[in-house]
Amino acid sequence: MISRGLEGDRVDSATCEADFMKHECGVFGVFGHPEAAKITYLGLYALQHRGQESAGIISCHEGRLHGHREMGLVYDVFKKDVLDNLAGDMAIGHVRYSTTGSSLLKNAQPLLVDYARGALAIAHNGNLINARVLRSDLESRGSIFQSTSDSEVIVHLIARSKKEKIESTLIDALRQVKGAYSLLVMDNENLLAVRDPCGFRPLCVGMLKGAFIVASESCAFDIVDAKYIRELEPGELLLINRSGMHSLQTGSAKAAGNGVCIFELIYFARPDSHVFGRDVDRVRHNLGAILHGEAPVEADLVIPVPDSSNAAALGYSHESGIPFEMGLIRNHYIGRTFIEPSQTIRDFGAKIKYNPVKTALKGKRVVVVDDSIVRGTTSRKIVKMIRNAGAREIHMRISSPPIAYPCFYGIDTPTRKELIASTHTLEEIRKYLRVDTLHYLSQEGLVRSAGGNPDEFCLACFSGKYPISLAVDFDKFYHDRKQSATTLKV
Ligand code: AMP
Ligand code: SF4
Repeated sequence: MISRGLEGDRVDSATCEADFMKHECGVFGVFGHPEAAKITYLGLYALQHRGQESAGIISCHEGRLHGHREMGLVYDVFKKDVLDNLAGDMAIGHVRYSTTGSSLLKNAQPLLVDYARGALAIAHNGNLINARVLRSDLESRGSIFQSTSDSEVIVHLIARSKKEKIESTLIDALRQVKGAYSLLVMDNENLLAVRDPCGFRPLCVGMLKGAFIVASESCAFDIVDAKYIRELEPGELLLINRSGMHSLQTGSAKAAGNGVCIFELIYFARPDSHVFGRDVDRVRHNLGAILHGEAPVEADLVIPVPDSSNAAALGYSHESGIPFEMGLIRNHYIGRTFIEPSQTIRDFGAKIKYNPVKTALKGKRVVVVDDSIVRGTTSRKIVKMIRNAGAREIHMRISSPPIAYPCFYGIDTPTRKELIASTHTLEEIRKYLRVDTLHYLSQEGLVRSAGGNPDEFCLACFSGKYPISLAVDFDKFYHDRKQSATTLKV
């Protein structure tokens, strides 16, 4: 099997520590549209929030797969000449965010390989928890890996399958992997879309003038005027080809329970998306409203930490009757900042991203609504800014429960000991943040806001109850041994 480098894809030969665990991603695919790559480009544009480090598109033209991948934002990676060269009526695309260790071009997706049955492209959102064991086994049997991405394991398993049809080889491969995957696979005739049996990550299907579209989130349909049809069911595989769309079951065992990632609804998905059968904006509104019910306070203003907390802050404001204000302004035009004049400008990282509106905050009792606290470092800096802007009281309200456990299924969280809620009590966190009061939403309130029942969701980062046993083979202390890398997009 030969992994194909793509134009613009200068593979870095430096080795890095294998990191199978941390990447947040978005996927998009098109079947049967004459401008498949351009549609995919627009879809990725709408999914940019799911990954900002690399972007890639592979299209199929006259039976041949070709594409482009690069580090950077969709807008920077795909200039007109690059897109003009990606002809064909079938394409898949991927955006990825990863931690420093694995942020290499060779891990950018979609992966593209040539193997005995032809060419194959694959775009994966989620994390496989048994990738290391599978990889060691495959390597001992002669497989040579090109990347440090867990997704490449699936490619090797497909290549080794004795089955004939692409859908059967994929099912064969998926029966061996454990973890989270919303996956797109493309050969020169078929587009396959599949969701893992626990349903961790979203994946939905739509139509655009007779063409089939698949995407991580429905906001990617809106940008191209595609019609949303439905979400893939957990464990469902859609085979799309000239004869239409066929729904198959992968038959992979569902480990313990359902794994619909509730954090997608809290923070990760775009509020204008419909995921897991819910309008994300409405869920976030409910989170804020229920949070007010659980932790009311007398105040003059409710402000969000923009943008991910806007809807929850609105919900808190509507429910409480306390006026909503944009007390913090977020700069949307920031990239990686390499200058850190830490000696002269304190809290530079947070200042580059947020600035308080002094006239709105001066002398006010302020409720600050944020969606989550991870390490607490950004929150502390934000509180300081609001205080310096003249706020009289600061009441922090968090529209999720305390994050005390890392995620192993595709959301980037730091090690357990770096999670402030895992090592500190509520009162210690309140003191650290220097707020007058601090309240987190309860787990019960969270599930109620999403309008579901606890069995439906993965709540592991709050409860420590992982839907797929990590004991399978996963080294759960890997995070802790690994050198700490900055994981927050600040
Ligand atoms: P901190 O105070 O440093 O824990 O940062 C809290 C902020 O991180 C909140 O505003 C969240 O919206 C944001 N956040 C939560 N999860 C993530 C994540 N996986 N990646 C980047 N930012 C996140
Ligand atoms: Fe989502 Fe948290 Fe479960 Fe990870 S551990 S899948 S972030 S709910």
